[in-house]
Amino acid sequence: MTHFSRPALLASLLAAALSLPALAGDAAIVQPVAAGVTTVTLAQQAPIHWVSVEQIAASLDGLPPMAVGFDIDDTLLFSSPGFYRGKQEFSPNDESYLKNPAFWEKMNNGWDAFSVPKEVGKALIAMHLKRGDHIYFVTGRSATRTETVSQTLQQTMGIPTERLNPVIFAGDEPGQNTKVQWLKDKQMKIFYGDADGDIKAAQAVGVRGIRLLRAANSTYRPLPLAGALGEEVIVNSQF
Ligand SMILES: [Mg+2]
Repeated sequence: MTHFSRPALLASLLAAALSLPALAGDAAIVQPVAAGVTTVTLAQQAPIHWVSVEQIAASLDGLPPMAVGFDIDDTLLFSSPGFYRGKQEFSPNDESYLKNPAFWEKMNNGWDAFSVPKEVGKALIAMHLKRGDHIYFVTGRSATRTETVSQTLQQTMGIPTERLNPVIFAGDEPGQNTKVQWLKDKQMKIFYGDADGDIKAAQAVGVRGIRLLRAANSTYRPLPLAGALGEEVIVNSQF
């Protein structure tokens, strides 16, 4: 058995502790060899139905004004900044902030000042306004006594006051698609959204569900598989 004096033992333990991060650091700077690409992998495309806003407009040519609906988060607004802040403040270790009324009070009453409006959203709204369509917003956000989301959308999407329908807060119920009934009630003919639930709601009532891409840096993960439900997907709709 080796005998260390107490100071010598402490010194050797300290030396061992200090050498560990140095070893880990060396390992971390070893880079893997690049996998490389071929023209086949570069040209790989998913066989989905891409459309442009112009093509959607052309497909509606000659049809009378209709009701259309939009999801909000990651469809019209890049609202991850507010959701990110909410998670940090109300439940940094899990998703329970989404069930916390205190979070929704903040999110629905001002934090959309940090939401970036999506260009594709503005283009779609302008197209539908020009057609004379009735535009509805249906969100899975929880309802609050007051809200500024409608006002934010009116301002950022350029909607005239007399044509603004206040946001419908459908809420989120486990095992239930809360948007379906609203699509039915308002007789919407098209519903736009980034999530599977948006497209499924449209398909459930037999109308056109059109997908917008969720931004790659959205905090809402995992990213959905756009086009996987056979729906149309708008090109360049991640911003
Ligand atoms: Mg969404």
